[in-house]
Amino acid sequence: MTQRPYHIDQMISAKAIAARIEDLALEIRKTYKDTDKLFVIGLLRGSFVFIADLVRELDMNVEVDFLETSSYGSGTESSREVKILKDLRGAIEGRDVLVVEDIVDTGYTLKAVLSLLNSRKPRKLETIALLDKPSRREVDLKATWTGFEIPDAFVVGYGIDFAQANRNLPYIGSVVFEDEE
Ligand code: 5GP
Repeated sequence: MTQRPYHIDQMISAKAIAARIEDLALEIRKTYKDTDKLFVIGLLRGSFVFIADLVRELDMNVEVDFLETSSYGSGTESSREVKILKDLRGAIEGRDVLVVEDIVDTGYTLKAVLSLLNSRKPRKLETIALLDKPSRREVDLKATWTGFEIPDAFVVGYGIDFAQANRNLPYIGSVVFEDEE
């Protein structure tokens, strides 16, 4: 399949992301002040850069694990059905847990993940999303913490891909298709 030509417009700079993560880490630290070891769960693959930067700002003991759910594939449309492709290695019963998501869009992914994890009886379960697109929401749900609210655009960079490209951009940018300009 040939790719439609596109370019990427920067939306959030690497510097702005780093500054926001410092603030979020302080808030998280406060919420989990009585926690011995925080169980941080990254949703693969889009959160891998965010979780790496976030845990290094968290001045506390953390354990890191990953969960992979089915994603949009190589297109840009949301599929409503959420499947678990890779489960956690560790048990979360009785643990203080933080789920790290790249983007909350329709909300179906986070809803399905929270319902699965809640069934495993963690002591505390909070969520953080780097990006939130409130105008796209189809289920009533908000992450405990959000990095940035963004408009309805298809974004890439800082771990987030378009057809498995652009994950290594240090900033968040929006995909602009040249035949739509
Ligand atoms: P939701 O289930 O909330 O509709 O979608 C969540 C997932 O869809 C995100 O974790 C992300 O993987 C994917 N997603 C949502 N918006 C975008 C986007 O703008 N760009 C990319 N690459 N993925 C997105």
